[in-house]
Amino acid sequence: MGRQKSYYELLKHPKWQKKRLEILNEHNFECEDCGADDKSLQIHHSYYEKGLLPWEYPNESLHCLCEDCHRQAQDWLTLLHRQIGRLELGQIEDLLGYAMAIEAGNYPMITFEVHSYGVAEGVADAYHLKAEEVIDALNEGQIDGYKLDAMQHIKHGGRDWLCGICGTSASRLFLDQTRGDDNPYQSLQEHAINDHGLDRQAVEESYHSRRLDGRAVVDGQVWMRLSD
Ligand SMILES: [Zn+2]
Ligand SMILES: [Zn+2]
Repeated sequence: MGRQKSYYELLKHPKWQKKRLEILNEHNFECEDCGADDKSLQIHHSYYEKGLLPWEYPNESLHCLCEDCHRQAQDWLTLLHRQIGRLELGQIEDLLGYAMAIEAGNYPMITFEVHSYGVAEGVADAYHLKAEEVIDALNEGQIDGYKLDAMQHIKHGGRDWLCGICGTSASRLFLDQTRGDDNPYQSLQEHAINDHGLDRQAVEESYHSRRLDGRAVVDGQVWMRLSD
């Protein structure tokens, strides 16, 4: 009981109050799962680590949830933990990779480390690739969602952004580039500028219209479009 009380005390700490407010603000005071803004909101710690104080967790591990979703999240975590406990070590490794790949889908710009062959297998599973393909694509042991996505597109097709002028896929341009582009969209922009001679500023300005129209145009030339 003594320990529980001290945890409760910690949640009254000004540093926790500050962190809590930060997370609530990040989510506009809405439950990030069901979107409720009229229920009491709680900050869910998605895991606990020995020695960490409540406000020392990274923001992405703290979730802004209504009380109902918070209870649901805790139930799922309990079930997940029990289920993981039944697996063999190698299967847990796969699962770790798979979970990293899911996060990469949410935040493609974040690079993450592929620690082992087993983890690579899990990542590969999520993107319908082979572990060897993931390993070959690592850069100093790391990879991000943009690269995995591009590899999946090239291997299996699916909707992709294309150069509207010559039809080359953004994924292909991204995988082939050596400039160090951050993502396929950037590679497509560089392609339009360097290979088709479009004006850089006009390309960058028109880029934002793609979200509405599924294409971006400069001087009547569609330089970026979504594949059918
Ligand atoms: Zn909710
Ligand atoms: Zn082109």
